[in-house]
This record gives sequence, structure tokens and C-alpha cells, in this order.
Amino acid sequence: MRRLRNVKIVATLGPASSDYTTIRALFEAGADVFRLNMSHGTHDDIRARHVIIRQIEVDTGRPICILADLQGPKLRVGTFTNPKGEDLAVGAKFRMDLDPSPGDVARVNLPHPEIFAALEPGTPLLVNDGKIRMIVDSCGVDFASCTVTVGGVISNRKGVNVPDVVLPLPALSPKDRTDLEFACELGVDWLALSFVQRPEDVLEARELARGRAAILSKIEKPAAVKAYDAILAVSDGIMVARGDLGVELPVHAVPPIQKRLVRGARAAAKPVIVATQMLESMIESPVPTRAEVSDVATAIYEGADAVMLSAESAAGAYPIEAVQTMNNVAISVESDPTYRQVIEASRTAKRTSVADAIVAAAREIAETTNIKAICCFSQSGTTVSLVARERPRVPILALTPLITTARRMVLTWGTTCVMVEPQDRFKGAVIAAVRAALSHGFATEKEHIVVTAGVPFNVQGTTNILRVAPCDERLIHKADAE
Ligand code: PEP
Repeated sequence: MRRLRNVKIVATLGPASSDYTTIRALFEAGADVFRLNMSHGTHDDIRARHVIIRQIEVDTGRPICILADLQGPKLRVGTFTNPKGEDLAVGAKFRMDLDPSPGDVARVNLPHPEIFAALEPGTPLLVNDGKIRMIVDSCGVDFASCTVTVGGVISNRKGVNVPDVVLPLPALSPKDRTDLEFACELGVDWLALSFVQRPEDVLEARELARGRAAILSKIEKPAAVKAYDAILAVSDGIMVARGDLGVELPVHAVPPIQKRLVRGARAAAKPVIVATQMLESMIESPVPTRAEVSDVATAIYEGADAVMLSAESAAGAYPIEAVQTMNNVAISVESDPTYRQVIEASRTAKRTSVADAIVAAAREIAETTNIKAICCFSQSGTTVSLVARERPRVPILALTPLITTARRMVLTWGTTCVMVEPQDRFKGAVIAAVRAALSHGFATEKEHIVVTAGVPFNVQGTTNILRVAPCDERLIHKADAE
């Protein structure tokens, strides 16, 4: 079941996609990565979905990537006496405070003392995904008095965003710490961190994960956009989390930021996911809007590693159709000659390391001669990421003896991950590459592949060798006989 596209599809699982049949159908329709959202569902729900995915992996013989998305320090108001909440009019005065008693039309609890300490008169506060807006008139250690500038209904536990302030909040709430440990124990491949504000937030999670999962930073706060380069440097991957980003910043600011984040991540050879509302109307409709199709296409033309479905696959009526739509858009875009022009024009300037030279040469050789695939023998995935950064025209075959590496690399643009026996000599790696290219249909007898690796094999970041190899069955027979 070889994918006919380079961009990867991330499908969030939820109530609409929690049984074997549906998750398998999502995989067969094109989902490469499954996202388990720790903001919803119990640990038992998450564990059950994890077990199903790993079963599908066994049944299909294909590594599948699992991304656990931590909720992060999301601010929420308390509850209201009226369970339907209160309708706040423009110009009304409204107070948030530390009093835990139920709220009314004049006030509500905001149980975060550290926020009050960070507010100043004039700070905007956004409630319920930015649908309600207010400005702080005055504040103290335990309250903020505000004027409503955009009205609406505020009700129990609605989220609060403070876009203009770097909040003195720990990166991981107690719930996040419990969820992180649970997810690592379960054996997820990536952890997504929500509301990252500074590089230290990423380092804190990395320390807790202890290498058990790769760390993906969700860029959804203006502070994270400002500190992007430093956050990217300490992250393994990036998500352009356009939902909260479009609340904390004007929506029209999001597209240029998306372009910058995607280019930056590609230049750093780290996978980047474009997320949120990509096919939002498919939550209720079997067909997307033209604008949604265009949005998915734009992310693919930009060279994103992956596009993501949230509620469309987790809670919508048409999860399979949503994945099929993304798959079809990807195939259509990637067969457009303009796609190659755009991808090539946005390739980063030449670099100076041996590894950079090897991967650039691999692409160059593959594109100037009739090479069928670039096969990367990789323990840590570094060689694969570097080759993927080149965005070559030919498929990338990621060959690794480590299932954890194979699963993580599934998120990376253009890669097909195949498990192979461990090798200690490059000759063995070439034979393993020929065998994989032939058996997975990437090349036929006598066609050629490029093989790259870092030798010695168990030292990370030593991409230093390249060979053009014919796919000659005799090589395999000879090796089997030895
Ligand atoms: C987002 O805000 O775009 C996002 C992906 O985060 P979440 O869905 O976890 O709120």
C-alpha cells in the first residue's frame, strides 16, 4: 500500500474514529499519522486507540506514527450560576477574580493568580476562542476589571487568551505532566506541546520525555512566533496551530506566519504540520468548500511535511471522506509542474557540512540520471531528515533497524519507512536497500537507486557516504548465500 504523494496526512482520532474498522479505513484512505488529543477523552480511551493503531501496524506490516497532543496551560473561567451562562453586551463592565463562587453577569472566577500579576490596564482579554473581547481597565493581585468590546455569551469553563503577554505559566500543567508520562509509557512517537512560549518550555518537556518521544512545538502564541528560531532549534518538529494563533493574532496575520514557519522548519530539516480548519465544513458535509481545498493545496505547495485533520476526523460525520479529500488534493498538487518549481525555488541556500553535500549530491544524481529512489540507512533518522529537506523528485526510502525511528520518520515529507536488519558495514546496507527497493515496488530489476548513510552506523549525524547501486537480484542471492 504505497502512498502516491509526498505530503503526509495527520488524522485526529476521537468519538467518530475510535474502533478498529474506522481507524483502519482512515489508514487505508491515506492517514499516515494518528493524533491522540489529550484535551479530550480518558486515559482508557487513549489507550484503546493506541492498541488499535499498533494492531493495524501489525496487520498491514507498515510503521504508523502516533502523535500525542498535550493540552498545555489553557486558561479557563470558572462556572456560572446560570448553566447557560450570561450574555455580555458591548460596553458592559465585567470582572474576573479569584473568588471561586459561581459567576453572574458582572463577574466570574479566573483561577489563575499568576495571570492577574501579569496584566496591566489596556491589556486585551479574549474569551471563547476570541468570540468575546474585553480590555482591562484596572487590575490587582486578585482581580481584573474590564470593559467588553465585543459581546457574546460567556458560559462555564470557556477558554481565555491573553495574546499580548508572555504569561508566567509553567509550560506543563500537572495534567500535562501526568499525560506526558502516560503517553511515553504507552509508546507514542511524538509529543505535541501546546502554548509553547519560550525554548525553556520545550527543554522542560524534553527532560521529562527522556528520549522516549520526539518533541513537536505547537506555535500558537505571538510570543512563540517571536521566539520561533530559538524554539525551532530545541524542537524536533513544529505544528502551525492556526486555531489559537488566529485567536491570539488577527486572522489575516496567520498566512504569512504559516509561510515563515514552514520555510524555517524545512531549512532546519525538521517536520512541520499545518493544522486546523483545513476541511472544517466536512465535519457536517461530505464535500469540502473550494476555499478549503485551496487551503490544503497552499500548505502542500509551501512544502509542509504534513497537513492535519482535527474535528473533521475526530468528531465529524465524514472522517474517511476528509482523508480521501486530502489525499486527492495532494496527488493533484504534486503532479502539477508548478509544484516542483515552487518547491525548488524555496530550497535553502547551499550549506557547508559533509552531510549537506552528500544529501544535495544524492538529489542531484537522482534527478540527472534515471534513479528510482534515494534509500537512506539511518539509526536516528538524521540522514532521512536531511534528504527530505532537499525535497527530491524521487521517493525517499527510510531504512532503519529501529521501529521507534521508522515510526517517527513517517511524519517526514516524502519518506516511506521500512524496517531492515541492523548492519555494521555499508555493503550490507546497500544490499538491504536493494532488497527493500525491489520488494516495496520502488525499483525493478536492473534499475538504479542511490544509497546514503552515516558510517560508522551507530554515531548520530555522520551522513558521509553515497553509492549508486543497481537493483540486481544476484547481489541479494550472493549475500544470502554468504
Ligand atoms: C490549534 O489551536 O490550531 C491546535 C491545533 O490546537 P488544539 O486543537 O489542540 O487546540
